Amino acid sequence: VALLVGGVGGAKLALGLSKVLPSDALTVIVNTADDFEHIGVYVSPDVDTAMYTLSGIANPSAGWGIGGDTFQAIEMLGRYGGPTWFRLGDKDLATNLQRTAWLREGLSLTEITRRLSRALGVEHPILPMTDDKVATWLETDQGALSFQEYFVRERWQPVVRRIWYEGAEAARPTACVAEVLEGARLIVFGPSNPVLSIDPILAVGGIRDAIRRNQAPCVAVSPIIAGQAVRGPAAKLLGELGLEVSPLGVARHYADLLSGIILDENDAAFCQEIEALGVRAATLRTLMQTEEDKIQLAEALLNWAEEL
Ligand code: GDP
Repeated sequence: VALLVGGVGGAKLALGLSKVLPSDALTVIVNTADDFEHIGVYVSPDVDTAMYTLSGIANPSAGWGIGGDTFQAIEMLGRYGGPTWFRLGDKDLATNLQRTAWLREGLSLTEITRRLSRALGVEHPILPMTDDKVATWLETDQGALSFQEYFVRERWQPVVRRIWYEGAEAARPTACVAEVLEGARLIVFGPSNPVLSIDPILAVGGIRDAIRRNQAPCVAVSPIIAGQAVRGPAAKLLGELGLEVSPLGVARHYADLLSGIILDENDAAFCQEIEALGVRAATLRTLMQTEEDKIQLAEALLNWAEEL
């Protein structure tokens, strides 16, 4: 199974799937278009969310960072008049310091992620979508903003008119990502933000084609439930970009790639219109609050995909 994810929504499904699939049967392919350099370190937020979640040390309430982390470094930084809007916990900072040191030694983000994951006891491979530089930009009513300026500093309040992924076309999937997408018997788009997490992965040169070439089923899990995002700006953004804020909007957005979509049981009314697009629809409980929810959704998804 190849699972494409951004941060928190996708990581929850990754955890569920990791509990039911052995490490050689699941690879998590992660968005890196949110990566940026901050106070001298290279931060890869979605990669770390996947890694911390699968290793069991994530902070479940924040959706980023490490549970029980402290913020002494950032407080000290504030005393010097340094930027404090991007909260990096002390342990989280260590991850980013080590990543940055290894990058300076010339290691790839893929190799670094493998080393960090192994040290944290993560068994399932987590692969950055590319080792090349891709950066999400948003054209907003307050001008062009980089992803972190929009998401963290401005708390996703600006109205977005357009999103682009700088460098994506020239970027290439890594050899491991290409191999996984070629050999996967099921490709899953996690319930991640379609335009901020999944689209940047699909925008990397060659990834869309690789998914199309693979005859295996490709299934999405809707991040939109009853017209709303579970958290974050997905619903607001889809609306601002003129897309329908529903699983139907999500299915339309990926219709050329999808064999099926899993939508929440509260959204069953959309099934008929989705199936009219040539995309199979299944309703399940998709809100993942407990570990049991994540495992149940993962199992149900795998069972359903067998029929596609
Ligand atoms: P980000 O990079 O942290 O924004 O993370 P993602 O793009 O992976 O996830 C954000 C999306 O996950 C939002 O659109 C949420 O609606 C969705 N999401 C979060 N938790 C759940 C859940 O339990 N079930 C479903 N279906 N979607 C979820």
